[in-house]
Amino acid sequence: TFEIADRLKGLPQPATIAMSARARALRAQGVDVISLALGEPDFASPPEAVEAAAQAGREGDTRYPPVGGQPALKQAVIEKFSHENGLKFTLDQILIANGGKQLIFNAFMASLNAGDEVIVPAPYWVSYPIIAKMMGGVPVEAICREEDGFRLSAEALRRAITSRTRWLVLNFPNNPSGAIMERADLEAIADILRQAPHVWILADEIYEHLTFDGRSHVSLAAVAPDLADRILTVNGMAKAYAMTGWRVGFAGGPLPLIRAMTSVQSNATSGVCTLAQAGAVAALQTSPVRRDGMRDIYQKRRDQVVTALRAIPGLTCAMPDGAFYAYPGLVGLIGKRTQNGREIRTDLDFAEALLDAEYVATVPGSAFGLSPHIRLSCAASEVQLREACQRIERFVRSLS
Ligand code: PLP
Repeated sequence: TFEIADRLKGLPQPATIAMSARARALRAQGVDVISLALGEPDFASPPEAVEAAAQAGREGDTRYPPVGGQPALKQAVIEKFSHENGLKFTLDQILIANGGKQLIFNAFMASLNAGDEVIVPAPYWVSYPIIAKMMGGVPVEAICREEDGFRLSAEALRRAITSRTRWLVLNFPNNPSGAIMERADLEAIADILRQAPHVWILADEIYEHLTFDGRSHVSLAAVAPDLADRILTVNGMAKAYAMTGWRVGFAGGPLPLIRAMTSVQSNATSGVCTLAQAGAVAALQTSPVRRDGMRDIYQKRRDQVVTALRAIPGLTCAMPDGAFYAYPGLVGLIGKRTQNGREIRTDLDFAEALLDAEYVATVPGSAFGLSPHIRLSCAASEVQLREACQRIERFVRSLS
């Protein structure tokens, strides 16, 4: 019989995947399910990227790539970091991997020893604690309170740091809360980090272009250049360019870390598909107009969803400044009962009962380390979002 490796025992399956699997199974039975469970842009990839990838194939760019990435893509990434983030890197400080996710995997694999702590501000993207645990690390939560706009406070960070801390994960704009960190917030964080020179920072900026109401994203490494020799800035093509399936992510960071991460990658994947890399170069070089167009649409959807949710008695909803999620709070609904007598004790109960009663798939806040909430992805059409909010309202009103 097959025996799973110790390092994988007890790891949770990401609830995002579990909920969308349940939604898919219902849909296969012919049920009209609206799934707001997955963070997948519903736009097409840039045609320039598709054409460049096809062209690369026709030209025979089909051999093994350099492990750390094609020089042309690394160069495009250097220019992106310089122009958009004010960060300076050399070619050997850049690593191209199969998505932002693999960069996080490589970084933790390259650096964590058993018992090393990784601070994950909650609510967090589900994969950080799972990958950290896979590598023998210990995730440590720092709570980002709703009253603070889900931002990481200097005080919460200070309390989470111990002598075993190896990494702080900083993900803003945040999945799932949509919070961003302004320059002053980052300066306060940087002050704490200056007093903790053993802590490295993984800045996951994959939602940087999705900021609303004229706000813009600021990189920690730009606010605190004196910390740059322990900051890994992670980003990728998935969200900003609607290129999830291409599996191209990139990172810039200190040379010794990038070297170690490249060595991990060399033994795992030998690098990223050449055609996808050619497509990514073309996408990075196209004008930001399309990207900004997507952002405006996400902002409209956010407004629509937040307005609809706030009109539902018992639900609260903070206004997300970025990313494409809403993270309404359920405090006012805990303890109520569904029509068939089921008590809503947790956000998981709520999400399951909502799916069963009204066929709307969401993800419970418990998956992201901050309850009671649910996460709704706004990467769906306005028609679907309107219908989903109506169903949620009908469900909430049916509770007693
Ligand atoms: N980081 C965050 C915060 C995400 O939400 C996601 C995807 O959902 C990723 C990284 C992974 O992106 P990629 O598709 O580039 O691996």
